[in-house]
Amino acid sequence: MTTLTEQIEIKLEETQDELLQLLEELVRFPTVSPPARNTTEAQLFIQNYLEHLNFKTEKWDVFPGDPNVVGIRKGTDSDRYNSLILNGHIDVAEVGDDSNWTSSPFQLRKENKYVYGRGAADMKGGLACALFSIKLLTELGIELKGDLQFQSVIGEEVGEAGTLSCTEKGYTGDFAIVMDTSHLNIQGQGGVITGWITVKSKQTFHDGLRSKMIHAGGGIKGASAIEKMMKVIQGLQELERHWSITKSYPGFPPGINTINPAVIEGGRHAAFIADECKLWITVHFYPDETYEEVIKEIEDHLYNTALADPWLKENPPEFRWGGKSMIEDRGEIFPSLEINPDHPAVVRLSNHHKKVTNEEAVIGMSTSVNDSGWLGRAGIPAVTYGPGQLEDAHSVDEKVSIHELLDFTKTMACFIADWCNTRKERE
Ligand SMILES: [Zn+2]
Repeated sequence: MTTLTEQIEIKLEETQDELLQLLEELVRFPTVSPPARNTTEAQLFIQNYLEHLNFKTEKWDVFPGDPNVVGIRKGTDSDRYNSLILNGHIDVAEVGDDSNWTSSPFQLRKENKYVYGRGAADMKGGLACALFSIKLLTELGIELKGDLQFQSVIGEEVGEAGTLSCTEKGYTGDFAIVMDTSHLNIQGQGGVITGWITVKSKQTFHDGLRSKMIHAGGGIKGASAIEKMMKVIQGLQELERHWSITKSYPGFPPGINTINPAVIEGGRHAAFIADECKLWITVHFYPDETYEEVIKEIEDHLYNTALADPWLKENPPEFRWGGKSMIEDRGEIFPSLEINPDHPAVVRLSNHHKKVTNEEAVIGMSTSVNDSGWLGRAGIPAVTYGPGQLEDAHSVDEKVSIHELLDFTKTMACFIADWCNTRKERE
């Protein structure tokens, strides 16, 4: 008698060209972001694919021209058996000038042991394999007792959190896998939040008045917002150093919890004293921190910095945190994700990974961020687990190993069949 793993291996052996064809079709949709607003056709394709596999689907615009698609296939005993969410983003990193590419970024090219194309690693490879693993299970007649949910989301590349839109609509499950680029490691992540800090003067002064603002007896209590921003930046550097010394998290090198002054905008014209200055910062934090905590620490520290300056004391910095899109409101949030290696789903996923690859699963932390934090934040135990290497994501001649795609497809098929046929744990 053959085991399910063997059946899946044999079936995939026969049909792997079909898997690569599916990936080729996904890569052909130029769903680059930015500019975004270009995923409708690709999402219709996925919706159609899911419906052929007996999923009930919902599609809604997160932004015009960028719909999410969620499909659910009810299990035969939903109430008592585990449900699973498979999540992936359909948007890909921008290409820009493609003259350095060996061939068209949107035409999948197979060479030696790899396939090349935009999204191969990040993460149309993961999407194609997951869809195909469900197809394999369906064709093998494997019944699932728990619900299987597929989320094809938009906007991940520019912090648009299509996944957040799914959790806001109430989509949930007993476990979730975000199939983003992890080289088949099982990963959690730190978080990222961006913010704008504004220093603003209540009055506007002519450049000619500067001497009266900075010299003895001048009598004008004014300041350049640009110069005051220097104090804010210094304050951020002190806090960053303090964090690097006092905070840590297993799986991360110390000091990756940085505060980057990424963009500065200020002043209006050489004939004026700068009456406004804005700083755009990027903050990285650890998996055991929430962005709310991090925001509070920064604001508290900068209010104290401001108190030590006579002008800033009366004109304290203002803050605008996060945002739902780097394109629409120049801001984003990627919540952090802790993972529990003893969670029954993580244990089972690791076991299937080992059976398929003959290697111990590596459970750790990603150096990057993706949508998994939104699922964790919604109370859904989640991990990132997907094919492709981060070095290849976003790169010229983006590629993914065919072997890795096949391993991922097998592991996913085995895991889905196992997890969705395991009884829910009742507390
Ligand atoms: Zn990605």
